[in-house]
Amino acid sequence: MIPPIADRFVAGESPATALAHAADLDDGGVNAILNLLGEHYHDRREADADADAYVSLLADVATTDLDARISVKPSQIGLGVGDDVFAENLARIVDAAAERGVFCWVDMEDHTTTDATLDAVVGTADAHPGGVGVALQANLRRTSADLERFADVPAAVRLVKGAYDEPESVAYTEKAAVNEQYRAGLDYLFAHYDDGEIAVGSHDPAMIDHAKTLAAEHDTAFEFQMLMGVREDTQFALAAEYEVAQYVPYGGKWLQYFYRRVAERRENLVFAARAVLS
Ligand code: FAD
Repeated sequence: MIPPIADRFVAGESPATALAHAADLDDGGVNAILNLLGEHYHDRREADADADAYVSLLADVATTDLDARISVKPSQIGLGVGDDVFAENLARIVDAAAERGVFCWVDMEDHTTTDATLDAVVGTADAHPGGVGVALQANLRRTSADLERFADVPAAVRLVKGAYDEPESVAYTEKAAVNEQYRAGLDYLFAHYDDGEIAVGSHDPAMIDHAKTLAAEHDTAFEFQMLMGVREDTQFALAAEYEVAQYVPYGGKWLQYFYRRVAERRENLVFAARAVLS
């Protein structure tokens, strides 16, 4: 069982608890993006097992009337075993998702994985146009070129600032520079992408305001995406006017994810501790 200190950020250990959380979100007008926690596998059996778990989750989602999506990590479904294993498992998951009308997001990991991730996404997007999307990281120097490349791919893009410590040679490492790149990325997305192809993955009020301005200017349908347990009041408030989806991690491997949330923002530990003490 997940202790109260972590359950602000993780929706239990089973698909059932994740779907129950998704149903609560749905009551407040927020959609769920379900993510089975797991990453950095180097054993094909582990990668195949998590791919199987996603296929099974998709069958569970299909038994509900929720507009839930899924989000998978490349190193969880085989990237650390081989590009071919990853591409095969991703295709299997996206096929199953498309069959059930569920959208499949692909998370982006550190810069050494970007090429293989984007190539696999292009392959699945060709097979299922409009059924798949990928995260692009504003902190990477290559991202402006990737945004241009994906303008012609029938896939959505979730723009995030980037969660990985990257070397200066490939990434902007100063906060101000990353924010500038994020704004420029949003400018590009709203100028060049179609309705439904843009996700704004940020909790930053300045980026949220910038996206609102661009959406009004270009009249483009897009969605905000935020993490479970982070600025949830804002998520529900935005949902009155915009599409909002919450990234909902679940599963037995919650400890590492919880540490990451706490490491990225000290206030998250205070919130979590308050939940335990109250
Ligand atoms: P930050 O730069 O962290 O914060 C800016 C401002 O936002 C803060 O000053 C504050 O005003 C507000 N804020 C931020 N957090 C809080 C909080 N806890 N409480 C109150 N206010 C807060 N990264 C990847 O590398 N790959 C991925 O695939 C990926 N997927 C993601 C999916 C989603 C849906 C989201 C939301 C993020 C994802 N990320 C991913 C993480 C992302 O790259 C950032 O590390 C993370 O979102 C923090 O950046 P930020 O834009 O939210 O704002």
